[in-house]
Amino acid sequence: MDYSHVRGVDPEIADALEGEEDRQRNTLAMIASENHVSEAVLQAQGSALTNKYAEGYPGSRYYAGCEYADEVEELAIERAKELWGAEHVNVQPHSGTQANMGVYLAVLDPGDKILSLELSHGGHLSHGHPANFTGQTYEVEQYHVDPDTGYIDYDALAEQAEEFDPDIIVSGYSAYPRVVEWERIQDVAESVDAYHLADIAHITGLVAAGVHPSPVGIADFVTGSTHKTIRAGRGGIIMTTEEHADDVDKAIFPGAQGGPLMHNVAGKAVGFKEALEPEFEEYAERTVANAKTLAETFEEAGIEVVSGGTDNHLVLADLRPSHPDTTGKDVEAALEEAGIVLNANTVPGETRSAFNPSGIRAGTPGLTTRGFDEAAVREVGELIVRVVDNYDDEETIESVAERVQELCDEHPLYE
Ligand SMILES: *Cc1c(COP(=O)(O)O)cnc(C)c1O
Repeated sequence: MDYSHVRGVDPEIADALEGEEDRQRNTLAMIASENHVSEAVLQAQGSALTNKYAEGYPGSRYYAGCEYADEVEELAIERAKELWGAEHVNVQPHSGTQANMGVYLAVLDPGDKILSLELSHGGHLSHGHPANFTGQTYEVEQYHVDPDTGYIDYDALAEQAEEFDPDIIVSGYSAYPRVVEWERIQDVAESVDAYHLADIAHITGLVAAGVHPSPVGIADFVTGSTHKTIRAGRGGIIMTTEEHADDVDKAIFPGAQGGPLMHNVAGKAVGFKEALEPEFEEYAERTVANAKTLAETFEEAGIEVVSGGTDNHLVLADLRPSHPDTTGKDVEAALEEAGIVLNANTVPGETRSAFNPSGIRAGTPGLTTRGFDEAAVREVGELIVRVVDNYDDEETIESVAERVQELCDEHPLYE
């Protein structure tokens, strides 16, 4: 990409931007929440809309000069409605966390009760973690996955809801490889007269493409990220019904945010347009097929996969049974050296710490964007296994790194 203007002003940042672009080209992005947007989305995000204040919503802004901002936001909303079939969409949240904040502000008062999945079982900070504003503002209890199966324990959730009497139940997760049964959670929410927030941050694209069941039309609120399995650039989104539309819009602006990041809203609009093309459905299907292949590769090598496989774009491996003395961080660091970038992750029933946990999480959205098919992903899985088995052996890491470079060259990015 052309950073000539940056270079003229600020060579240090130009070096870093070029370095990052090269890093992305020459490594395999397997962090499950990451992807590569198109050059069209990058251009929209780098546009002059970054200069524009557009507090308010299309047609009713607090500033003059919003003609093009309105056009961009209206298109983003229209396309999102088409992608997810939602009655009302807010495309202004700066991130998925802000989208969740918008929902909480819309329907909760401080001290109200949130029931959500525990972080180490696959939940998210913004669902009530003590270090997050949610944990500090609301009363939080957490539900769990069944330690034997790795699946959400829906019966235990129903019992817990009965006892805790939450104001909102949060579903949707960061490290959960299975289909979420939205209706079962909706039934629980209705039985205790609680709202249901389905946070589809990770699977926004899979839901849009119809390869994961949709909570839209079931849960009261659906929030998402626009940069994980959908390639619309960094940001968040809220979907809801007409009934809650005003409350959500007021909660985002002026409740939680000031002026929207209109350049990012433009990126969302462009990315949503791309996702409405038939190829996107193929992309989402391939992403899931690739993740299933990756899970198989791990299992064939004797590495335990939480829940025994995956239905979505990510695989969570528990290293303890096969490699009791190897931590997720050991593997993360060795793989990074070999050019495979993923993250150490806690696993259900974690016995180490959140900082140095017992698992690794690997996703296929980025590789699939680069055109990796199942055979190529199988090879990447085998390379990962080699590093897991020999994480402290420099020779292994070097030989894996050489093959990773070849795979990167065979699947170019930002040519
Ligand atoms: C990624 C994620 C979010 C959003 O994170 P941001 O970094 O704020 O965009 C929200 N919820 C879940 C479950 C996530 O995995």
